[in-house]
Amino acid sequence: MTITADAASSVRALREEVCRLHGELTRNQLVSWTAGNVSARVPGHDLMVIKPSGVAYDDLTPESMVVCDLHGEVVEGELSPSSDTAAAAYVYRHLPEVGGIVHTHSPYATAWAARGEPVPCVLTMMADEFGGEIPVGPFALIGDDAIGRGIVQTLQSSSSCAVLMQNHGPFTVGKDARAAVKAAVMCEDVARTVHIARQIGTPIPIAEADVASLFDRYQNVYGQ
Ligand SMILES: [Zn+2]
Repeated sequence: MTITADAASSVRALREEVCRLHGELTRNQLVSWTAGNVSARVPGHDLMVIKPSGVAYDDLTPESMVVCDLHGEVVEGELSPSSDTAAAAYVYRHLPEVGGIVHTHSPYATAWAARGEPVPCVLTMMADEFGGEIPVGPFALIGDDAIGRGIVQTLQSSSSCAVLMQNHGPFTVGKDARAAVKAAVMCEDVARTVHIARQIGTPIPIAEADVASLFDRYQNVYGQ
């Protein structure tokens, strides 16, 4: 597979965008060392742009990003793609509305994943962003489609744009890479706040009808 002339300008822009968005992972303290990545679908093409494997965030450049097809095969790039490429490719193949995916091992979200416990919806900002609890996906080993399958199955039975893969950590999705990064930041933020609330008392659940109304307003009305 090669990159057609009409995909080339999108690929160029997404190399810049995906590279730049990795700076948000470090700025928001979501990642240690090189463990976390952002990817983006190339709209209208069966292609994705993703972080190269094992490269330090400070050393990332637009040119070092790797372009893969939606089976994880490298189409353009000198370096090997992230070890999460197969999982991301599976998600892009099965969820056409997803344009961006982020994976981190951000500490509070990952602590919930370690217990296999969903983050309950006890904050209006959770209802806004996730439309309910942040669910847990199955334990899965890296290497085949198991992680991708677990992410897709969990997201399909939830309104959430984040899933905590058990014993592993959060994967978030969005209409584009920036939205997926925002979800990753919010996921860690609410995982931390609900954890703190738990230490000093019992968080109060929000009624389902109120969650639905908050989610609808935020997703459809809020903003500019
Ligand atoms: Zn991981």
